[in-house]
Amino acid sequence: MIKMYDVVVIGGGPAGLAAAVSAEKNGAKTLIIERENKIGGILKQCIHDGFGLLKFHEKLSGPEYAYRYIEMAKNIETLTSTFVTSVKKINDTFHFNLVTKDGLLKVTSKSLILSTGCRERTAKQIFIHGTRPAGVYTAGTAQYFVNIMGYLPGKKTVILGSGDIGLIMARRLTLEGAEVLGVYEAKSTPSGLQRNIAQCLDDFNIPLHLSKTVTKVLGTERVEGVIVSSLDETMKILPNTEEFIECDSLILSVGLIPENEVAESLNITLDPSTKGPYVDDFLMSVDSKGVFSCGNALHVNDLVDYVSESGEIAGKNAANYSKNFEKNSIKEKVSIKKGNNILYVVPQYVSKESKEFILYFRVNKVMKNKTVIIKDTENIIFKKKYLFLKPPEMEKIVLKINNPSQLKLEVI
Ligand SMILES: Cc1cc2nc3c(=O)[nH]c(=O)nc-3n(C[C@H](O)[C@H](O)[C@H](O)COP(=O)(O)OP(=O)(O)OC[C@H]3O[C@@H](n4cnc5c(N)ncnc54)[C@H](O)[C@@H]3O)c2cc1C
Repeated sequence: MIKMYDVVVIGGGPAGLAAAVSAEKNGAKTLIIERENKIGGILKQCIHDGFGLLKFHEKLSGPEYAYRYIEMAKNIETLTSTFVTSVKKINDTFHFNLVTKDGLLKVTSKSLILSTGCRERTAKQIFIHGTRPAGVYTAGTAQYFVNIMGYLPGKKTVILGSGDIGLIMARRLTLEGAEVLGVYEAKSTPSGLQRNIAQCLDDFNIPLHLSKTVTKVLGTERVEGVIVSSLDETMKILPNTEEFIECDSLILSVGLIPENEVAESLNITLDPSTKGPYVDDFLMSVDSKGVFSCGNALHVNDLVDYVSESGEIAGKNAANYSKNFEKNSIKEKVSIKKGNNILYVVPQYVSKESKEFILYFRVNKVMKNKTVIIKDTENIIFKKKYLFLKPPEMEKIVLKINNPSQLKLEVI
């Protein structure tokens, strides 16, 4: 028997759980599909605190934050250890083939929410020379080893990349008795949040080396050391700057990429600057009606609170869409262009009928004393001064509009 739902949510992390709770609250029969054996997403392994300050006005650990949503979603149908082998859209209905613990299953839905999170860039994607010994981990794998399995991935560690997970792991490994020799960052500015630089490196005297990268991994069975080199401002390796560092492990924190294989299988084009689908202010894909995206699958967020917020928006709109396809699919949209020094803006489109919506953006370089403006054709409809704008920090604007034509976000 084929089970029918109003909304199917793929991915049971904080985005998917918030989306499912919001879809059910708005009257949709909802199913959550999660490939792991437990819901909660990556937060299950993030045992440090600092989650939920915006959402719950409390300082929670990752598992505590996830548990709040797991509780809210406890009456929603959920399939764990379940893989989506194919999704097809036929006449406005989504048809899913699933592999579950109990065998094959077919389900259909009127709308689909993609909340599949992101994955880490690996050593293969950053082309480091040298041998391939044991002891090279992504920061997320190292986090899983320490926090879930109780293993120490190394005793003398070099961290490449100053992404937040790498910074958090620098502190975690130090607390577990490992020696973290330094964090090496190719760019001239850190990639992680300032609060993590202060709390995870400065407080533990772990040095941060900017404009430096690992150019070679050494070792046969196990990592025996790495060569680091300095880079110029164009990120070219400066000759004769090689330095040998003896270590037994190398941890990579070199970026996250939204996971969007399901979107691609539905021929949804991905925005090259977010690596997520192009969406409107309902967080609905502009390529495929009825497909919604949220959380880190849409763009890499810096705070989980924003992940849940986008899940709530997607869930509510997916529920409304599933009740009234036709009315919801004919909305006229205008684009939101990105001007100078804007790395990305989400959503990339807004419905002409919308009066208020949330816009997230990031800049592509560190800037001081700047103004962000939004223009509707030639008129400035939003203006805000920023003391600092930094690429690691995602910015949020709640924009009130009235019958917009083309919008453009700029830094001046
Ligand atoms: C390794 C790692 C560590 C992190 N650590 C921190 C941290 O310490 N602090 C912090 O603030 N943020 C951290 N983040 C950021 C964190 O990802 C977000 O704050 C938040 O968890 C994102 O929520 P999400 O629901 O979008 O994605 P996730 O939490 O990643 O959840 C996505 C879920 O979708 C499931 N999924 C994916 N594809 C499929 C599929 N095809 N079928 C079924 N299920 C699928 C996954 O198994 C997962 O459960 C970390 C991210 C990563 C990748």
